[in-house]
Amino acid sequence: MADRRALFALDGTVYLDGNSLGALPEAVPGRIADVIRREWGELRIRSWDESGWWTAPERIGDLIAPLVGAAPGQIVVGDSTSVNVFKAVVGAIRLARAGTDGNPAGTARDELLVDASTFPTDGYIAASAARMTGCEIRAVLPRDVPQALGPRTAAVLLNHVDYRGGRLHDLPSLTRAVRAAGAYTVWDLCHSAGALPVGLDAHGVDLAVGCTYKYLNGGPGSPAYLYVRRDLQPLFDSPLPGWTGHAEPFGMHRGYTPGEGALRGRVGTPEILSALALEEALTVWDGVAIEEVRAKSLALTDFFLECVARYVPEGRVEVMTPAAHHERGSQIALRCADAEPVMAGLIARGVVGDFRAPDTLRFGFTPLYLSFAETERAARVLGEVLAARP
Ligand SMILES: *Cc1c(COP(=O)(O)O)cnc(C)c1O
Repeated sequence: MADRRALFALDGTVYLDGNSLGALPEAVPGRIADVIRREWGELRIRSWDESGWWTAPERIGDLIAPLVGAAPGQIVVGDSTSVNVFKAVVGAIRLARAGTDGNPAGTARDELLVDASTFPTDGYIAASAARMTGCEIRAVLPRDVPQALGPRTAAVLLNHVDYRGGRLHDLPSLTRAVRAAGAYTVWDLCHSAGALPVGLDAHGVDLAVGCTYKYLNGGPGSPAYLYVRRDLQPLFDSPLPGWTGHAEPFGMHRGYTPGEGALRGRVGTPEILSALALEEALTVWDGVAIEEVRAKSLALTDFFLECVARYVPEGRVEVMTPAAHHERGSQIALRCADAEPVMAGLIARGVVGDFRAPDTLRFGFTPLYLSFAETERAARVLGEVLAARP
């Protein structure tokens, strides 16, 4: 995988923030220049057809699909993660009430469970979705979900990897438990897609969302994606039925008839510039198996933990990320007094991680472009920064 590093614009800094904004793939600027100058500048309106702009959301969804273990035709790219959380959660509640999967129509399912440790936006959006659908919302830690499920549960919104501490949750068993209760899962893959195998199809996940600017390196504000399992697509009833998801978008009909397949998740005109930057960014995955990525990610994070133990003065940091591989994402989080100035010190010395309030140092490990030598340097610099502070 060391050959992949040359595909990215990197310099002498140790970049451990790819879990927040992935580094720039070298192929992107040229593609975007061409999209702007030629496709927009010269072809203008013809590009919707001739340059494949109109179908970009599904086409790019199919490029993400193998990275998250999905067969083609189930992922559509567009909008932000927050907006897709809304579509997926309301869609899941409507599915639960639609009498699918052995759930007798009319069963009153009026409860929404939300990961108590979720990234905040998911929680905010879920609270609004619950209000709009007449659901009661309950915050539950992922490990407590099986006991919390009941006949009233409509949907469960979970983060695959915790954004703060880096804990990986048990997607296969939680998905099974939710299904057995007749409810629907929505998994947020922001911190797992591109870092580890997800297996959406293999584990029978119902709906999933994720961003593309973290481990998928799509660039700032690149469009997010929505996965709706194929057999649920005909029943998926989007709460944002925009014209580009219509069966006949150019029929200009007064009433809404949803299109077929993944494009049901579309809303308005796709964000072409950022979508095509993402499409080009995804070429760095050509010929890479996600299992290989996972193996290197675990080796890097193991090595970082070893180096932290070696270089950091006793008692100055506490490892928040689980030691067990099956519970670890692709980042290491350390609890540390004065974490904010400590991270500023690291950044000033060319080691870029990030700080999360109130006391967390986060280090994201992007296997495609990170080396073991850089990993060692990051821990060494952390030790030096801490040793220099009282
Ligand atoms: C990064 C992240 C988001 C970001 O949401 P946007 O709408 O793309 O800003 C949402 N959820 C999780 C779990 C994240 O890690």
